[in-house]
Parts: sequence; structure tokens; C-alpha cells
Amino acid sequence: MNKCVKCGCEKLIKTKVTLEKWINGKLIVVENVPAWVCKECGEKYFDAETTLKLDEYFYESVPEKIIEVPVFEYKEG
Ligand SMILES: [Zn+2]
Repeated sequence: MNKCVKCGCEKLIKTKVTLEKWINGKLIVVENVPAWVCKECGEKYFDAETTLKLDEYFYESVPEKIIEVPVFEYKEG
């Protein structure tokens, strides 16, 4: 992986990111995910192995911890 599909530049850097995903109304967070991130536009890319593992985390694995997230609905007035 060395070219950004989104903006076409070749400034991808290997780093670790935190991913959030909503699944069935629950927010799932995976920390320290190895990723290639585009320096220009911020687009993230993952290799095949990482993508497979992420699916496991998102759909099958038992989480390390569960945190509660307060949600407010903004009301006018
Ligand atoms: Zn880009």
C-alpha cells in the first residue's frame, strides 16, 4: 500500500489509529489498530489481515472493557 486511492498522492504513513463503528445501535471502539494514513487527506487504509481481525473484534470478540457513553439530544429553546 503506497498510494492513496482517494486523493492520488503517495504520502501514506504507517501508524496506529482508533476506530469507531456503530453496530446495532452500539458504538464499538478498537484502539491501536495498525493503519496507513494519508498525509494529504487523512484517509485510512488497512491491510487484509488487519481487516479480518477488525471484523472479529466488531462482530465476535468479547471486549476488553465496556464504557458507558452519555448521549444527549439537543432541544431548542
Ligand atoms: Zn489521500
